[in-house]
Amino acid sequence: MRILLVEDDAALADGIARALRAENFAVDVARDGIDGQHLGETELFDAAVLDLGLPSLDGIAVLRAWRAADRRLPVLVLTARDGWSDKVQGFKAGADDYLVKPFRIEELALRLRALVRRAAGHAGERLACGPVTFDAGTGQVERDGLPLRLTGLEWRILSCLMLRKGAVVSRSDLAERVYEGDAEVDSNSLEVVIARLRKKIAPAEIQAVRGRGYVLAEAGS
Ligand code: CA
Repeated sequence: MRILLVEDDAALADGIARALRAENFAVDVARDGIDGQHLGETELFDAAVLDLGLPSLDGIAVLRAWRAADRRLPVLVLTARDGWSDKVQGFKAGADDYLVKPFRIEELALRLRALVRRAAGHAGERLACGPVTFDAGTGQVERDGLPLRLTGLEWRILSCLMLRKGAVVSRSDLAERVYEGDAEVDSNSLEVVIARLRKKIAPAEIQAVRGRGYVLAEAGS
């Protein structure tokens, strides 16, 4: 799950980004509206966290521009206390959820996972593939009912494939959803991480589909 965070308050942006990374998200930060609009239109994100009061282009204008460009990523808007009209404006412009500042980072993480899950078309929080389960509410991954220890990158790959179980995810889509924008990605590194992940989730399988990408499947299917 890769998140676009558009927030001009540097200390707040750093704090949110650090906390979301600790929850296994990949996070790209834009510090003004123009940069945020550009990133949201040119890169692939699973969701965006959008502050409304931004320099150069305000959050509502950014959101309208994304929707006008048919960018459908779930967007959570950050509003000031008592910002009733902000909320109304945000929803009118196409926001999916909002949080009032100040908020608990755990709540932000929870809401983002819920937005990403619903955008992938899942009504329930608990997803399963053989003995492996992914709780899209808490983010917890278990195998045979026991917590499975995963690195952030492994978690992002598995959650991405779990949300699209049985469907082929192209290599480029997968890479975009698991690495931050400025990460150096060589062609073998994704392969190496997937090989490690395969051992951890067996007998659930990450199958490589030649020339197309990867698909998560139950053993023997
Ligand atoms: Ca602001």
